[in-house]
Amino acid sequence: MTPAARDYPRITVPPPGPKAREIVGRHDRYASTSLPKEYPLVVARGERAVVEDVDGNRYLDFMAGIAVASTGYGHPKVVKAIQDAAGRFLHICGADFYYEGYAALIERLAKLAPGASKKRVFLSNSGAEAVEGAIKLARHSTGRPALIAFSGAFHGRTYGAMTLTASKAVQRAGFAPFVPEVYHVPYGYRYRCDFCRGEPACTMRCVSSIEDDLFARRLDPKSVAAVFVEPVQGEGGYVVPPAGYLRALRELCDRYGILLVCDEVQSGIGRTGKLFACEHEGIEPDILLAAKGLGSGMPIGAIIAKESVMKWGPGAHGTTFGGNPVCCAAALATLDIVTGELLPNVQRMGERLLAGVRRLEQQHAAIGEVRGLGLMIGIEFVKDRATREPAPELVHDLVVRAFRKGLLLLGAGKSSLRLAPPLVIDEYDVDTALRIIDECLNELD
Ligand SMILES: *Cc1c(COP(=O)(O)O)cnc(C)c1O
Repeated sequence: MTPAARDYPRITVPPPGPKAREIVGRHDRYASTSLPKEYPLVVARGERAVVEDVDGNRYLDFMAGIAVASTGYGHPKVVKAIQDAAGRFLHICGADFYYEGYAALIERLAKLAPGASKKRVFLSNSGAEAVEGAIKLARHSTGRPALIAFSGAFHGRTYGAMTLTASKAVQRAGFAPFVPEVYHVPYGYRYRCDFCRGEPACTMRCVSSIEDDLFARRLDPKSVAAVFVEPVQGEGGYVVPPAGYLRALRELCDRYGILLVCDEVQSGIGRTGKLFACEHEGIEPDILLAAKGLGSGMPIGAIIAKESVMKWGPGAHGTTFGGNPVCCAAALATLDIVTGELLPNVQRMGERLLAGVRRLEQQHAAIGEVRGLGLMIGIEFVKDRATREPAPELVHDLVVRAFRKGLLLLGAGKSSLRLAPPLVIDEYDVDTALRIIDECLNELD
């Protein structure tokens, strides 16, 4: 599957084919009933931005396993790093002992994280574990209990992370009681902003209302440990907040001694054209979280905190598997590739993709809004541009149709499509994805 061959997308058996159906049947018989499946993709292998299913169909992947396969599938440098590390030792517990890969990765992340302050790093297994650790660190470091998060936020499935989450009600239904002292406020979601949607320009009232409403009426700011924010909302719909939004949150936090936690589990590791999305605003978070794209698919997450914040004593926080040596090797190779090769490609392909999606917006009235940074592009669908009524069924139909044509997509939020391909895509991939989305929309119009 070299780019020259271009033998994809290629559907030879309408999916799910016979081999796929057999595996789907076994899976569905035994899997937890909580796992949603948009379409029956059964993967056999992958290369670059191409995924092959068990019946030999080849798909162009524009979702990267939820923005995880940052360097694509089977990047030779990542695979080699994993193989070499696996041949040395699989585990020793980085919380209790030392190895070079762990030291190298935390040093690299501390130096790559934005801002002049010295940093320290804790390595986890996942995004939720990084969020959970950040909640503990914020409370421990400030001695304050309260946490602020945003409507539409997604931070993970464990109790603290789930309590911060306010993306889809089903993710919380039936799980009360939640972690106490969590307050949700509106995100900088201009297309559906209750404050200034009717105004000609953004008034940033979503930020000032935290002081004018929340702090004035309901919550003592001196009891707030941290604000948790996604610099671009992921699961909530690939929502890019207005320019200046993170800077305004940074200033608000500074006025009250509140920590700013940027959850870059989805937006980090080059996804938006910078290593971390908060760099677009030139701010330094007190705590920065990474996971999804960090290991190119190997499970690893990171809490990167200012040294002045990460001062908890020995035993205060730990993990058995976090910072596993094979995962550290994958993350080091990923960072080499992303910082050394891919960032300019993300910017170029992101511009090409965004321009193409804006052309589709001209042609299809179902597209209500297009927004994006780098290769983190959201398309919000509506039943009617005037009322902006969401069109969730259309997104589902679109995603299923695209799958049958050999393009892997994923929805986000109530009524949006997220475009999050591996960062290695090229012009052919961008143009092919745009052509298939256009075809699907023509069929649905
Ligand atoms: C996916 C995600 C998480 C949770 O990560 P897991 O590895 O699934 O636990 C947290 N925050 C954001 C922004 C995410 O996109």
